[in-house]
Amino acid sequence: MQIEKTILAKGFSEIIKGKKYTQNYANGRSQSVKFLAIHYTGTTGSALNNLKYFASRYVGASAHLFIDPDGLIYQSVPFGDTAYGVGTTGTYRHATCRNSNSISIELVSDGKGPFTSAQIATLKSVIAELRATYNIPATNVLRHHDVTGKTCPAYYVNASRWDALSSQILGTASAPKPVTSTPAVPAKVAPVPAPKPAAKYNLTRTLKRTSKTVNGKKQWTTTGADVKELQKAIGMTGKDVDGIFGNKTHDAVKAYQKKVGFTGKDVDGAVGPMTAKKLGWLYKGK
Ligand SMILES: [Zn+2]
Repeated sequence: MQIEKTILAKGFSEIIKGKKYTQNYANGRSQSVKFLAIHYTGTTGSALNNLKYFASRYVGASAHLFIDPDGLIYQSVPFGDTAYGVGTTGTYRHATCRNSNSISIELVSDGKGPFTSAQIATLKSVIAELRATYNIPATNVLRHHDVTGKTCPAYYVNASRWDALSSQILGTASAPKPVTSTPAVPAKVAPVPAPKPAAKYNLTRTLKRTSKTVNGKKQWTTTGADVKELQKAIGMTGKDVDGIFGNKTHDAVKAYQKKVGFTGKDVDGAVGPMTAKKLGWLYKGK
């Protein structure tokens, strides 16, 4: 990712400490990153000025990234730290998105019109990069509005505008939206939506053990995030969920295949289209 200008945590917290302001963000995270939250700054002040502002006084708020109208990105908080972007003392609209598991992205905008095309292009590439890095499904790319009901980003609280922006920045049809209204006092009157069903795991390749011969011995392995998801999905637990498709996982897949009614050569211990379908996974592999 091209983060054009970066002010890292060091400078950020040093300035705040020097002025005896409480930090505007927390070191580290208590959960892994699962969501991206999109905001607008509500002013036309530049991204850099936003960074300076947040670094110079106690605000009790922060975001990881700021994107200028010309598309340049500025980083204010490292991704591994917790920015205070989507917290509320009121009622959460979203069941699980919190500061601890989200990355907040602010776009410099007064909210009266759309983001610039340069901002949208940058946002699109940042989102693609972050989604790939943290394995974030499209349904977890949210507006601040979706999390707490706040009118943020103001222009895109409107459902059809957000739908259009979503398709641009996700490169797909937009995610389902929990609420489409634009309440006047959102945090107080917004109904709490039912939690969204977990996104189906998007399988992109056939999962099976692969072998190679090392020093005359056959070693069986397939590794990766897919494997862990698979292990959990077929009921493996504890330290068996190790992300390694070895003999144990192969046998567990076979047992699963028998359990769901496969017979004969379909009980092969590999996860291709048929098994993926039984698991409720999307299969896009070859
Ligand atoms: Zn916001």
